Amino acid sequence: MDADPKVFVISGPSGAGKGTLTTEVLKRVPSLARSISVTTRRPRPAEKNGVDYYFVTADEFREHIRKNDFLEWAKVHGNYYGTLKSIVEKELAAGKDVVMVIDVQGAISVKKMMPEAVLIFIKPPSMEELRKRLKERKTENEAELERRMKNAEAEMKLAKLYDFVVINDDVNRATDELVGIIQSIRSKS
Ligand code: 5GP
Repeated sequence: MDADPKVFVISGPSGAGKGTLTTEVLKRVPSLARSISVTTRRPRPAEKNGVDYYFVTADEFREHIRKNDFLEWAKVHGNYYGTLKSIVEKELAAGKDVVMVIDVQGAISVKKMMPEAVLIFIKPPSMEELRKRLKERKTENEAELERRMKNAEAEMKLAKLYDFVVINDDVNRATDELVGIIQSIRSKS
C-alpha cells in the first residue's frame, strides 16, 4: 500500500492528448484517482456532469472562490476551471494517489503549495500535428481552434518548469512512459 500519497499534475496544450493518456493510465495503475474539476465551460456533446467535469455557472464558480473551496483555479481559453480541495483531500485520505489534468497556471500554483507534487507535461510531436488533432476532434469552432493554437505556443514554453516531459507520438508508447514515471515515483516512498 502506498504509505505516502502522491499528487501528479498533467498539463499540455489542448489536443496534445492529456485526457486520452490519463484515461489509459488510470486503467493500468491501481489506487490512482483523477480529480474532477469544476468549470464554467459548456459541456461538449459527449461530456457528462460529475464524470468529465462539474459544470457550473459563473455565479456558482465565484461562490466556490469566495468560500476558498479551490486548491487552485485559473481562467483558460476564456472559461474558468478549478480543482476543489475537498475532492483531492478525499482521495488522498482514502490512500489514493491523485492525478490532476490542469493547465500550466494551475500546475504552477499546485507546485507552490505542494512542492512534492510531480509535474508532467504532455507535448504533441509537432505543432502541425496538434492542429490536425484539434481539427479532427471537431469539438472547437475555427476561432476557438485558433485561440487554442495560440495558447499552445505559450504553454509549450513552460514545459521546462515540469519534472517530466512526455511526447505523445503514439498513445500506447506514451502511456507506457507515463505509467513508468508514476511507478518509479511511487517506488521511492
Ligand atoms: P478543456 O476545455 O479542453 O476541457 O480544458 C481546457 C484546459 O483547462 C486544459 O488545459 C485543461 O487541462 C485545463 N483544466 C481543466 N481543469 C482544470 C482545473 O481544474 N484547473 C486548471 N487550472 N486548469 C484546468
